[in-house]
This record gives sequence, C-alpha cells and structure tokens, in this order.
Amino acid sequence: MAINPQVLIIYTGGTIGMVNDPLTGSLTAFDFGDVYKHIPELGRLHVELTTYAFPHPVDSSEINPEWWKEMATLVYSRYNEFDGFVILHGSDTMAFSASALSFMLQGLKKPVIFTGSQLPIGTIRTDGKENLITAIEIAAAKDETGDPTIREVAIYFEYSLYRGNRTSKVSASSFEAFRSPNLRPLAVAGVHIDYTGETFKTSGELELFTDFDPSVALIKFFPGISWEIYASIFNIQKTKAIILETYGSGNAPSDRHFHELLLSYLQSGGIVLNITQCSTGRVEQGKYETSSFFEKNGVLSGYDLTTEAAVTKMMYALGKSAGNTTFAKEILQKSVCGEVTC
Ligand code: ASP
Repeated sequence: MAINPQVLIIYTGGTIGMVNDPLTGSLTAFDFGDVYKHIPELGRLHVELTTYAFPHPVDSSEINPEWWKEMATLVYSRYNEFDGFVILHGSDTMAFSASALSFMLQGLKKPVIFTGSQLPIGTIRTDGKENLITAIEIAAAKDETGDPTIREVAIYFEYSLYRGNRTSKVSASSFEAFRSPNLRPLAVAGVHIDYTGETFKTSGELELFTDFDPSVALIKFFPGISWEIYASIFNIQKTKAIILETYGSGNAPSDRHFHELLLSYLQSGGIVLNITQCSTGRVEQGKYETSSFFEKNGVLSGYDLTTEAAVTKMMYALGKSAGNTTFAKEILQKSVCGEVTC
C-alpha cells in the first residue's frame, strides 16, 4: 500500500484559527490539536497530518522578523520529516511573511504554503475550510517523477496559488484577498488543481539564513510631501537603506530639498531602492526626466518588486552583506528566488 504524504501544519494565528465562544459570543483562538473536530473532512484526505501551534498565536499585525526566524527555523529543522508544509497565518501581513521566508529558505525543494481566511473556521460561510484543505493538497502534491509539484514558498487563497514573494493583499473584505500582479498564478483550483505556472527551480542544498537587518525605511510619495517632516529618515547612522515608493515607472518631483537629502545620503553610503506605487508594471529609471536624477546618482531600480518583497529583500540584503554595501547592491540587482524580473 502506498504511504500517504506527510504534511506539517504550522499555526501562527490569525482569523482562520478562531471559533465563536458559545458563552461570550466573541471570537477566540481554538486549540489547534483539535483541528479534526472543526474540519472532519481532513480525515478523508490521503495525507498524514501533524500539527504544530505556536504557544501564543497572534493577529498577523504582531508578526516581525523574530517570528519569520522561528517559522523558517521550524521548517528547516523538520524539512526531512515532511513532504510539505502549510503555514496558517493572518492575511494582513501574510505577503510579508511569505516573502521573508522565501529569502530565509533558499534552495527549497518542497512546498511551504501559507494560507488563512477572511472568516474564522468556526463560522458557517467560512472560506477557511476550502483554503486549508486545498493548501494541504498542494503541500502533498507530487509530479509524474515523484518530486514535489511546488518547490517554493507560496500563498494559497480563494482558488489561486501565488508565488509568495510576488503577492500583495488587495482586499480587506473580499474572499479574493490576494493578487500577484506581475506573475501569473502557480496554480488555479477548480474541479482539479491546475498547475498553470512554473514553480521556481533552484539547485543546491537548502540553506537557512535568518539574520535580517531591519534598518530600512519606506517612503511613499504623494503630491505636497514635506521633506522637513521626512528629513530625519535620511540619517545614515540609523537608516541603512531607504525604499522610495514613487509614481508610475519610477518618477518623483524634482524638489531641491529632496535632492539634497538624497544626494548626501547616497554619498554617505546609504542604499536607495526605487519601487513603484502602481500594482502592475515596473520601474524604468531614465524613461522620463523625472526619474533620470535617480538613474544618474546611483539609486537602484526595484523593477517590478512588490512593496512586501522589496522590504524583506532589503532586510535580507543588509543582513547577508553585513556592512559590505557593494555586495548588498549586487543582491538587490538580481533575482534571488523569483521575486523580480530584472
Ligand atoms: N487581522 C487578521 C490577521 O491578519 C486578519 C486575518 O487573519 O485575515 O491576523
């Protein structure tokens, strides 16, 4: 008899793991060891499930690099025991966590599937059951050669599987809460799970790297932005890198105060990365006069990076390069794990 695939479900918190307390009527986290009680359908999957719940599950607004480190270390330390991993996580910061884990776990050749829900599993119209059941199927799926079908960190939500570091949360209320604006889905679930996209291919052994450096600032442009308010951010002692969320294909106003701040920051060794506020398309520095200042002065293009991938990639690059700015810039100008089209 064929042995069922083994999947580890890791519960970090978020709406999915909540039920209505019959006494108070409010939503509370349920004991994840009881998952079969809440979703008896899981017993009919041909998958061996093991569950691990973080001792203090949180709303995903509380997630930080320490949590990423714990999640990645857990996957790394139990990598050989399981065919795939499902991480249950609040949807609010799921795209950041999925991006972060893609940088922390390079060389991954098994699926690490993030999922969650907009409605708790204990409510009648929950999207959590379908999300969890299909995420488990994806985490257990093998191709015709017996290799895992998905070999990367991904997000499964409302019938679509997306590369984690290409995904953003786009809706606070729709079941279709995520989108991958610049890369088509890795899979779409209907009657069958259709693996329409190509999973990321990597050679080499799995490596764990968790020393992210969060000395990163993010500035989103808007007409009338006051550089007096933002001036303190351009302080190289505190801020090792600045991500600019600019207009369109990477454009910004030619404000003298901003240019002075930026030039002195760059001259002191600061790293500046230009990403676009638009959800689709890419930065093309030099296309317009309003972005050629960036091109001439060493601001790096973030091409089609999402904000979530840009922030986590910057933390990774700063940590990995440990003060070697040239090396950090090299990392930022290439695709590390399928997060960008350069
Ligand atoms: N606020 C919740 C969280 O991100 C929302 C959710 O779970 O979807 O943890």
